[in-house]
Amino acid sequence: MSSVVDEIIKMFECRGNAAYYGEPVSQTEHALQAAFQAEKDGAPDSLVLAALLHDIGHLLHGLAENVAEQGIDARHEEVSAAWLSEYFGPDITEPVKLHVAAKRYLCAVDLDYLNELSPASFQSLELQGGPFSDKEAEAFVRLPSFRAAILLRRWDDRAKVPGLKVPPLEYYRARLEAAAKQQQTSAL
Ligand code: FE
Repeated sequence: MSSVVDEIIKMFECRGNAAYYGEPVSQTEHALQAAFQAEKDGAPDSLVLAALLHDIGHLLHGLAENVAEQGIDARHEEVSAAWLSEYFGPDITEPVKLHVAAKRYLCAVDLDYLNELSPASFQSLELQGGPFSDKEAEAFVRLPSFRAAILLRRWDDRAKVPGLKVPPLEYYRARLEAAAKQQQTSAL
């Protein structure tokens, strides 16, 4: 358990200083701010951790930071969820897997949301398939993790503030260890 938590913290330390895809914060700042927003909203630990880990796929594959500019959709939400599912339960991995779908959904149903996307997020939207069609949106709201994914998406969007003071990675260690332990126990 502690080994995966150490690995996660090391990944942020080694690769998290890279810019977050055209945003004014680093990968680590983005993750910490997303978790902070979740906690501020009174989210359960599983969603605070989902917010912290939602973009971990970016740190895993080490693709250049401007992949969207190059016209590549790295499907980081699936990479993140697949890696996380080795260690954490679906209460964490499902919202992570759906956080890009949540963006496509929100763009379809909320014009203000679409208009307020950051330039980088708007650019990647097209690569991710664009706003959902009515049919896709209908299917999305039927998924069990639909609400959690929308919440995660909102924290994600609010986690791009340069210089915001937030708790460090170590602040989440105990909760990460507890979640990994819980998953290991339930897998027995
Ligand atoms: Fe993100």
